[in-house]
Amino acid sequence: MNDIILLKLGEIVLKGLNRKSFEQKLMGNIRRRLAPLGNFRVYCLQSTVYVEGEEGADMDAAFEAMQQVFGVISLSRAAPCEKNKEAIARLAIEYLRDEMESARSFKVESKRSDKAFPMTSIELSQYVGGELADAYPDTAVDVHDPELTVHIEVRDLAAYVHAAPVPGAGGMPVGSNGVAVTLLSGGIDSPVSTYMIAKRGVRLIPVHFFSFPYTSQQAKDKVVELGRQLTAYCGRMTMEVVPFTHIQEEIRDKCPEEYFTLIMRRFMMRIAQHIAEANGAKAIVTGENLGQVASQTMEAMASTQAVTHLPVLQPLIGMDKEEIITIARKIGTFDTSILPYEDCCTVFTPRHPRTRPQVSEVEAAESALDVDTLVQEAIQGIERISLDHE
Ligand code: ATP
Ligand code: MG
Repeated sequence: MNDIILLKLGEIVLKGLNRKSFEQKLMGNIRRRLAPLGNFRVYCLQSTVYVEGEEGADMDAAFEAMQQVFGVISLSRAAPCEKNKEAIARLAIEYLRDEMESARSFKVESKRSDKAFPMTSIELSQYVGGELADAYPDTAVDVHDPELTVHIEVRDLAAYVHAAPVPGAGGMPVGSNGVAVTLLSGGIDSPVSTYMIAKRGVRLIPVHFFSFPYTSQQAKDKVVELGRQLTAYCGRMTMEVVPFTHIQEEIRDKCPEEYFTLIMRRFMMRIAQHIAEANGAKAIVTGENLGQVASQTMEAMASTQAVTHLPVLQPLIGMDKEEIITIARKIGTFDTSILPYEDCCTVFTPRHPRTRPQVSEVEAAESALDVDTLVQEAIQGIERISLDHE
């Protein structure tokens, strides 16, 4: 008997986004994520997506993968059977053996979307509950506070038996809410900010600024690895690696030291905006966090954002480090993030950075630079790296 995965859809909040396009996006994302795991049939009925594995499909891996797909609020593995009460009870007894033997108490909950089924939900629950109680006399029926809830659904094509659902990744399907550029460093924060905006249905283009030889090949490999890890949630992405060395050297040679970081961050924003415009992206995502470092005061962020007309999305702005780390661990990027390679922000760090700059001061401080030429030169040198889940 081949079991299946049932995925319940999450929120559909935007008025312009109708259910059909939400479902289409979600199913496309699901199919792409399942492709390396075997052959699957994926279809959507009554706000539930069904994933059926064909011969040889890795259902365990598929179930794990589906827990990382945005737009799914909960999911369960379930077994199908014919739509008659005896078949349903037989299946429940067989399919839930382990769960029934380890639980002290249980109840049955039935749902019937096929209204032609000859029993009410309550009658079906009572019948299957009785059969299960006979088969597992050590497991008590408890309709108020059971350890195990056995779910039965009578749907159009079949009846399904499944145990308690597990939570899905939530959010909205990636691609249902536009495209943004995300600034990805090798730190703890930016993979988490990327994940959080992807969760809102945004397809992301990771951009990394690379200052070889001040930052090493290993530092770049680490960011590529973080990007690859994020594809579990974000889907396929193409990372843009921007050569940043010349810009940093120019800043070091021609600008007052206390403004180094601010000027560097303004270049990041300008280049990110270029990449956004070339790719139809409508925002820039960063991992900034209020007060965490000198460049993350309100004044510093104002001077950084002054060079772009795009909204800068900072999903971590009000979080504590511990909260960010909890998410980083959950999404599996933390261990890579703490590998000890330097980032371009730590190259030429000013000894006494300006923390409350006026925008006009920063503009004056960078006036010795040929900004447009430097930006163009960096853009010419971009390297694109495809990232996919294996
Ligand atoms: P993170 O942990 O994400 O590195 P951080 O706390 O170290 O963040 P900063 O180094 O000030 O903070 O960087 C703030 C944000 O700027 C980062 O979260 C990231 O979005 C972006 N950023 C910093 N360095 C780079 C880089 N080399 N390439 C791309 N984006 C970067
Ligand atoms: Mg950093």
